[in-house]
Amino acid sequence: MSQTFDRFQTLYERLNQLSRIGILVSWDMYTATPKKGFDDMAKAMTFLSTEAFALATSDEFYDLVLALNEPEEYRQLNEAMQYSVRYLKRDLEKRRRIPKDFYEDFVNTQNDAMRAWEDAKRASDFSIFAPHLEKIIDMIAKNCAYIDPNKDPYEVLLDQFEEGMDSATIDRIFEELKEGLLPLLDQILKAQQPESAIHGSYDPDAQKKVQKLLLEYIGFSFDAGTTAQSEHPFTTGLSCNDVRITNHFYEDAPLSAMFSAIHEGGHGIFEQNVNPAFHNTEAASCRYMGVHESQSRFFENILGRNRNFWIPIYPKIQELLPGLKTVSLDQFYREINHVQNSLIRTEADEVTYCLHIILRYEIEQAIFRDHVPVEELPKLWNQKMKEYLKITPPDDASGILQDVHWSNGQFGYFPSYLLGSIYDGMFLEELEKELGPVDQILADGKIQTITKWLNDKIHQYGSTRLPKDVIRQVCDRELSAKPLLDYYRKKYTELYQLKES
Ligand code: ZN
Repeated sequence: MSQTFDRFQTLYERLNQLSRIGILVSWDMYTATPKKGFDDMAKAMTFLSTEAFALATSDEFYDLVLALNEPEEYRQLNEAMQYSVRYLKRDLEKRRRIPKDFYEDFVNTQNDAMRAWEDAKRASDFSIFAPHLEKIIDMIAKNCAYIDPNKDPYEVLLDQFEEGMDSATIDRIFEELKEGLLPLLDQILKAQQPESAIHGSYDPDAQKKVQKLLLEYIGFSFDAGTTAQSEHPFTTGLSCNDVRITNHFYEDAPLSAMFSAIHEGGHGIFEQNVNPAFHNTEAASCRYMGVHESQSRFFENILGRNRNFWIPIYPKIQELLPGLKTVSLDQFYREINHVQNSLIRTEADEVTYCLHIILRYEIEQAIFRDHVPVEELPKLWNQKMKEYLKITPPDDASGILQDVHWSNGQFGYFPSYLLGSIYDGMFLEELEKELGPVDQILADGKIQTITKWLNDKIHQYGSTRLPKDVIRQVCDRELSAKPLLDYYRKKYTELYQLKES
């Protein structure tokens, strides 16, 4: 290898180690650090990210990356390194266009907005958050203009989370989904609703055993993974050999931790099964949020909310959680698929969840395309809730203030959740074409054949394929919401005994 590559490797290794320690510090902050120790850990975090930022944006590192992108150097690199230097070049170009003063100001504005959002949510008063939101929106538009002055700001935002995805495509598939979903939802809500059968209290230690059972069942490896507890469940990957997931156990709501375990397990299985040859490169983890979310949602919804998923394990779960002994598998199945027009996105069922996301996507477009003033947003939110979900939030806390994303400046993130589900409809269709009916595979207790299929078709590639290429190569057809709609129609027509339409 060339001298250029050797020098690059030295600096890149340093960056990788800083990042690894940073991830560990943040893992510790959310799972173990006591309240009084939090500030010091936050300082350690700032120290590490400043060091990493300085190194990554240094002229020396940038020049090395540019040199490795030249044909004679590039040709000598392996696949993962080729991806890495291409990615780093684009990423550093973007970062170097943002003036340092602006960036610092932006980070501070985000921190202030986050605190204001917390206060506003607690007081359920949008006016506390409004001036901060206005400033954030303004700065995001500027930031987008630095990154790419020739591109519409909202396109820049979408590209950050799901590279290569554009609003014309999202408009098309979300519209297709909305048109099919609204009449279906209407029918479901008019049908007979199940009564809750799950009551009483469930020991958190027993719930932890259920989590372990579920994770092993779906194929999460404990040789390359571990679990802990945190306020909100999340997954963090240090490498394919060390993937960590968290959960939160509520004594009165055992389903919450069960489905979070399956969801985070899906993210974890993805990270554990990236090609080991990609270790310590940019390719080693999947950076596309829609594709990542497609995997967690495939396990959580397509598999986990299928009745047959539970057939092989339900008796064992009843042993661990005696409160479920009086709940039949059918009652359990109905309860995990109870469709309701609820206010809160994170508590929504898989059908209404789509509408929660479409609403947010349309509001983001209203902000960045139509420049709707911030003070009009709560009204717009409530109008759309009424139109799509037939309910009006009683206050801002359960309406426009419910999500953290906008206070963090994460505009353009929401669509990834729903893109994930839309990809899932397509993956399901293809999987059944190749392996036969999922119902049968699950009933036979062969879920790991499905996990293996996802490993081979999707996980092993890490970040090396753009989302649209993943879809094209796995499904060999154009992106469409129809397979997801077909899946909902079939499942809920049967479950709610709807008339075929
Ligand atoms: Zn997720």
